[in-house]
Amino acid sequence: MLWLVFLVPLLAVFLIALALAWGARGPAWSPPPCSARPATVDAERVAQGLAGYLAIDTSIPPGQERWDQLDGQPAWVAYLLERWVRPLELEHRMLPGGSLAIFVPSDDPRPPVLFLDHVDVVPVAEPRRWTQPPFGGRIADGFVWGRGALDNKGCLAMALEALTLMREQGRSPSRRLVLLVTPDEEVDGHSGSGRVVREHLEELGFPEVVLDEGSFVLPDFYPGLTVAAVAVAEKSFLRVELKVTGQGGHASMPSSDTPSAVLVRALQRVADWDPPAHLSPPMRETLWRLGGAKGFPLSWILRNSRLFQPLLLGIFQRTTAGNAVVRDTVAITVVRAGEKENVLPGLAEATLNARLLPGQQPERFLDLLRARIADPRVHLSMTTWPGQDRMGGWDTPTFRAIEASIAATVGPLEHPLVVVPVVTPGTTDSRWFTEVGLEAYRFHPLLLDAAERAGIHGVDERVSLDNLARGTRFYHALFQLL
Ligand SMILES: [Zn+2]
Repeated sequence: MLWLVFLVPLLAVFLIALALAWGARGPAWSPPPCSARPATVDAERVAQGLAGYLAIDTSIPPGQERWDQLDGQPAWVAYLLERWVRPLELEHRMLPGGSLAIFVPSDDPRPPVLFLDHVDVVPVAEPRRWTQPPFGGRIADGFVWGRGALDNKGCLAMALEALTLMREQGRSPSRRLVLLVTPDEEVDGHSGSGRVVREHLEELGFPEVVLDEGSFVLPDFYPGLTVAAVAVAEKSFLRVELKVTGQGGHASMPSSDTPSAVLVRALQRVADWDPPAHLSPPMRETLWRLGGAKGFPLSWILRNSRLFQPLLLGIFQRTTAGNAVVRDTVAITVVRAGEKENVLPGLAEATLNARLLPGQQPERFLDLLRARIADPRVHLSMTTWPGQDRMGGWDTPTFRAIEASIAATVGPLEHPLVVVPVVTPGTTDSRWFTEVGLEAYRFHPLLLDAAERAGIHGVDERVSLDNLARGTRFYHALFQLL
């Protein structure tokens, strides 16, 4: 009977290995074929066009709310019209709320694709720390420098240059495009995208698909691979207000149950809390595709993400960025109580900012949070952000056109390319459109390392001429394949 002692574990190991091999079967990711005509891009020309756009300070505040009351055109509109829109003989329209719509015609009868791009940029807090002036429109050391180079003026410049190239080649896009330049993405998108969705979709020809910002080509997403991350969804935004009321009084005789003390203990429990983690459908697809590019045993682990979920979640949770894509997060952003040193406040309040993965219900999250705080004296209320997001697909014609365009134009690369669908932890204006049923893909065709990504909302925002050429080639291909 001794042989049974060895045989049973051996058999178990064999069966597990068989199950894993079965789970990991299937070919590696490869891009769809690209039939687009290639382009030779003059990066210097793209850089000049973008530099002029960056030299116009469109930071908020002051907000766009005054732009549509200005006499005449805002400087950025005048610039776009003169540099690209009029030479390309494109129709355009200023919309109430301050957005500019540019119409690119095509013979194709399908509804247009909406190319979303915001003109507003976040303010520059410390201009002295910048290597080049943030609104100088400088080209130096192989980069165009300035607030908005990456977020988000660069993409419009590349798209308009791609259209210019197509015109020089005597071609037009495969379907109609509307380039929508909005004024308030960095605020809340209400006047721009929000108003367009409420009032102007018909005027824009009822677009079907949105192309927007939200993710990049990343050399450091996974060791040994270049990963083009196309966001098919974004986390939704939830505000939770905590309120504790009670007896105020003199600070010389405090109890341990003052509203501030109760709130502080509740906040401590929130700060120490990790909401449940899980791998979303896009994340499982991403792991599957990464697994296809790796050999044994990584391919087994990545392609059996259900079986290895605890291990994979553990790896993601090591970084704040990784953690944010596998779980709902909650941050304590505002805390208020008291006005005078010797008075016990009768009211203590805090605001929490939560970001939920697609498919997570705000009500359920609030219940979990309430259970975590476990104190009936803390009153919780929530506000959901307008336009909760829906998850897009990766088995769609638009996603395949994006994949093919990336593969045909992103190189040369140091490591093999894999295109993956992701959920972005940030918020974009796409959510206004997904709310009313449009598909959205959030992707910038720029290969950015961590240092360049740090310029977004930070110091020394810049885009390389290599990236401007890459991005222009990408849009030139994509506009033929959509
Ligand atoms: Zn942006």
